[in-house]
Amino acid sequence: MADLGYLSRKIDRAIDKILCEIFDKRAVTLPAGRYVSLCFDDFPQSAARIAAPMIERRDWRATWYVAGGFMGETEPEYGQMFTSEDLYALRRKGHDFGCHTFDHIDCSTASAKELHAQVRKSAAFLAANGISEVSSFAFPFGAVDLAAKRVMSQTGLALRGVKPGTNRGSIDLNMLKACGLQDNEGGTARAIEELETLKHQDGWLIIFTHDVRETPSPWGVTPQDYEHLLDAIACFGAEIVTVGDMMNRLNASDARDVRAVA
Ligand SMILES: [Zn+2]
Repeated sequence: MADLGYLSRKIDRAIDKILCEIFDKRAVTLPAGRYVSLCFDDFPQSAARIAAPMIERRDWRATWYVAGGFMGETEPEYGQMFTSEDLYALRRKGHDFGCHTFDHIDCSTASAKELHAQVRKSAAFLAANGISEVSSFAFPFGAVDLAAKRVMSQTGLALRGVKPGTNRGSIDLNMLKACGLQDNEGGTARAIEELETLKHQDGWLIIFTHDVRETPSPWGVTPQDYEHLLDAIACFGAEIVTVGDMMNRLNASDARDVRAVA
């Protein structure tokens, strides 16, 4: 017999996804050009110690979505998580940082009060680590419903989901698309395919992952695959920007066109 509870939750999630795509948009027009942003969520220490130097060698920088509650912890899937030294080293090298809630909570089940408290707690944590400029947010687990989107839109941060694809033309800063490198999304091969689409049409491709190590979790990637991806991006000639860079550019642009669609 079908599990009706499971089915109903699946339908609810599908409806949430559709509602989030349609309503509470913060539409802005991207500047002409082909852009790629590299992001890390949570984040495992291997990303900071293995992937960051690979990025810096190319004179690029990434955006790090920090869940402060992970600092110094060891997670079963990811191993050692970042330390305050990792944050310091990344900050010193000029990387960009985003909010990922402090406790890595499921925003789709959190109250407005909880969400605001998580943003405040995260900002205080980052500030205590010398990071005061934060212009974006990524929903942990990609979990978001319309109510959470609406609450988080009040923060003014650019909001990133996990729907794969490239942000093009009039984009929704309240629900940026992003390609994850996890196995169930086709790994780096899928991201490289998405990169190829920039040949034909301008856009902003955001790529995120978690751990970068020889035996990665299903949500991570090997150093070899990551280097291959970076090579593909370099060959392609897209401009690498952090999410913060793009936000600064959009904020500075006279062409900024912010409007509530619904
Ligand atoms: Zn996360």
